[in-house]
Amino acid sequence: MTKEELYQLFLSHPNVSTDSRNIKEGCLFFALKGDNFNGNQFAGNAIEQGAAYAIVDEKEYVTDSRIVYVANVLESLQELARHHRQLLNLPILAITGSNGKTTTKELTAAVLSKKFNLIFTQGNLNNHIGVPLTLLSMTRETELGIVEMGANHPGEIAILSEIALPNYGLITNVGKAHIEGFGSFEGVKKTKAELYRFVERTGGKIFINQANPHLREMARETPNIPYTTNKDLPGLQGELVEANPFMVCKIKFPKGWLYIKTKLIGGYNLENALAAATVGSFFGIDPLKIKEALESYVPANNRSQFIESNSNKLQLDAYNANPSSMQVALDTFQHINNSPKGVILGDMLELGTTSAEEHQKVVDRIAANEPDFVLLVGPEFSKCQLPDSFQSFRTTEEAKSYLETTKPSGFYLLIKGSRGMKLESLVEKL
Ligand code: ATP
Ligand code: MG
Repeated sequence: MTKEELYQLFLSHPNVSTDSRNIKEGCLFFALKGDNFNGNQFAGNAIEQGAAYAIVDEKEYVTDSRIVYVANVLESLQELARHHRQLLNLPILAITGSNGKTTTKELTAAVLSKKFNLIFTQGNLNNHIGVPLTLLSMTRETELGIVEMGANHPGEIAILSEIALPNYGLITNVGKAHIEGFGSFEGVKKTKAELYRFVERTGGKIFINQANPHLREMARETPNIPYTTNKDLPGLQGELVEANPFMVCKIKFPKGWLYIKTKLIGGYNLENALAAATVGSFFGIDPLKIKEALESYVPANNRSQFIESNSNKLQLDAYNANPSSMQVALDTFQHINNSPKGVILGDMLELGTTSAEEHQKVVDRIAANEPDFVLLVGPEFSKCQLPDSFQSFRTTEEAKSYLETTKPSGFYLLIKGSRGMKLESLVEKL
């Protein structure tokens, strides 16, 4: 099947699925391959469940006139998305960065939806499959698109940019995340900067936090719309008022400062909120509407949630962890007014050869703060040199049994670890 034929098929069947367990009547099923599965095997099944067509790349699975062969399903999906996006010709903002992509995307979407008919990345579908799916969900009615882009290897942001063709780019920050795949922090910077390079080459603009020297260095001469958390630098200015634990900030709009009381935990959300406000201002959203949008957004999915249980106050951030996000979480924690305070931290995964050193740094940092209670979970933390008062367990299950017997109470507890550590399962014991 040619690209044009596939596009015609898509126009008459705009619902796209890549998951044979979730087939909608009349959809196009793309039979992707993963590490542990071959979607081709489910093509027949998808048709039985109501898919209008299934796209496969192994000829032996073409057992029905509604099963269509292409050379490579993933490439076809990506090319289709690029083609669709090109024809729609609407402004698209791409958001990448080491931390805070989803939060910034959600906040920006909340702000822009005050005025525009938007399509934005759902959840965290930010990779080589999620990006095309987001683009394919845009229609002639869509006025603006926001696409989250994630990467853990060099070159990935360039590839995603070539698919989404963003007119605007925003890098939240660069930090020590996925070092295993990138090789080094320089590797992280270079990969994220691929978004700036794309936008620069294609005549777009970037939104940039001028207060971040790494981003400034990466941006070079790219035309930009600045924001800043440092009053001596140019751009829409934001200042942290407090984060105890909810973030309150003020932003200096042309007519004056506006206080914004968010439902987000952690001072680091200032830059996420300010980024969203800057994009909103640029697209002509009234500052009061921006304030309203930022104040009403409630984070979901274990992304910095505040939970008040019968016994303790919990700051649950079991969604991800890396040295940079751990550092800002501990910064925030340090300023919490509550006694007693404690931390329950899980391993930060995917750190490669820097892992032991980075975990030890976190341990030393906590030791310097002297919290009343420290529980560390995971093989990496367990290998560290720990002060006597720190508890450590290799698995989350062991930590759970420990909490069951000790029953801490009256604490403000920061709970943070990589997704794979599943620290949210400890909440029932707290
Ligand atoms: P992922 O790589 O999983 O898509 P993400 O970049 O989309 O992550 P979010 O989901 O928005 O990031 O936030 C995840 C966690 O990252 C938060 O719970 C918080 O710990 C941390 N974080 C969020 N924003 C920032 C920020 N601006 N600076 C540092 N850390 C942040
Ligand atoms: Mg995300």
